[in-house]
Amino acid sequence: MKKLLISIALFGVLCARAVSAPLSPENISFNQLLKDITAPAAARAPEPEERSAILSAPSDGRYWVTVKAADKYARTRLLEAGMDIVEIKGDNVSGFAGPHTMELLQSGGFVVLSRVPLSEYLAGRQKDFPAADAVYHNYKETWDLLKQMAAKNPDIASLFSIGKSIEGRDIWCLRINSNAKGEAPSSKPGALFIGNHHAREHLSNEVPLLFAAWLFDHRGDTAIKGYIAGLDIYIIPMLNPDGVEYDIKNGSYQYFRKNARVNPDKSIGVDLNRNYDSWWCESGASTYPGADTYCGPKAFSEPESQAVKRFIEARKNLKTHISYHSYASSILYPWGGKEEDVPKAQDKQVFVKMAAEMAKLTGYTPEKSSDMYIATGDSCDWAYAAGGIFAFTFELEGNGFYPGAAIISKAVSSNIKAAVYLLSVTDDPYKLAQ
Ligand SMILES: [Zn+2]
Repeated sequence: MKKLLISIALFGVLCARAVSAPLSPENISFNQLLKDITAPAAARAPEPEERSAILSAPSDGRYWVTVKAADKYARTRLLEAGMDIVEIKGDNVSGFAGPHTMELLQSGGFVVLSRVPLSEYLAGRQKDFPAADAVYHNYKETWDLLKQMAAKNPDIASLFSIGKSIEGRDIWCLRINSNAKGEAPSSKPGALFIGNHHAREHLSNEVPLLFAAWLFDHRGDTAIKGYIAGLDIYIIPMLNPDGVEYDIKNGSYQYFRKNARVNPDKSIGVDLNRNYDSWWCESGASTYPGADTYCGPKAFSEPESQAVKRFIEARKNLKTHISYHSYASSILYPWGGKEEDVPKAQDKQVFVKMAAEMAKLTGYTPEKSSDMYIATGDSCDWAYAAGGIFAFTFELEGNGFYPGAAIISKAVSSNIKAAVYLLSVTDDPYKLAQ
């Protein structure tokens, strides 16, 4: 999103970094990236006209609402009405709702405690917006960094596209493996990291992207060296590039969640994390195309979720997985689409143990996904059901979807520890079920 602050008129044109010189394979490093992220904030505050551009609201008729919903069943019904649940505080739930959802809330007898047009909600949050969101990486910048990392570490890294988004952008995957490159098969146990299913969750791109940079910087450390030699590691930081670019397209945030599918009713987007074939659209998802929780016309209707399906089905060696989202400071494990625990007791033991360990390292709360609300069509349920993969949804930290640049360093640091822990058990997660 660096270009957000530089030039709205130049949208679509590759821009130079705002402050630092372009990174080349020679000077790219985790520490340099972190420095770039923290330095520009102080070096350059946005001009007033840029700031108002960041804060101007999308005019899509949505409201920020707070609704009474005392338990996960009520929260599930809210999702089905199309409400985009963002915060859960006690018996109250806040989030986004369009006009269609507002009607359903009324006819469904929900108690709407407050309702403000999105523009007012954003105005009230001005102080929360950062001076230097430009340090977040947009699609092109993410791709460039991945290319540079692969170029600097040709012996262990390769970069390939797992498929194209609906607007034709390649979905890039960085692979770290000491002997297999690109799409060549490997029998080593695999770990998969995916970010940015949801467009506006920009921190969920930064965490896996910077984790990759950190791994390369630490490739000589004894433990990391062992993981790189023994594992097959895949990092797909930006699964939904169209949504990300849409969210920042005018130099102002759109609070956009979905992909860029143009639906028959001209509304935009399918919720990619409701589009997987795990009890697809049975609970916690909406069939209304304009809703933020729209599950799509059928399971795997979208090229982005199809790409993940093909990717996972082709790699039977995958053992562990983190899908990054924001923001709730939670570590969620299956099922999300069913109240029940996963049927195999040993698997449950592994899920609970891994979630607890990673929670200690991040300060997040571990819980079964459906304890928050029941949502079907989720990627981690599907990855576990289809591939037996120990798959976790990380809801990263923050007070909003746009938590500013200052949060990146802390979120990345603690999440690197959790990701390294994931690698440490990927050889055989069942070693935890003793
Ligand atoms: Zn999300």
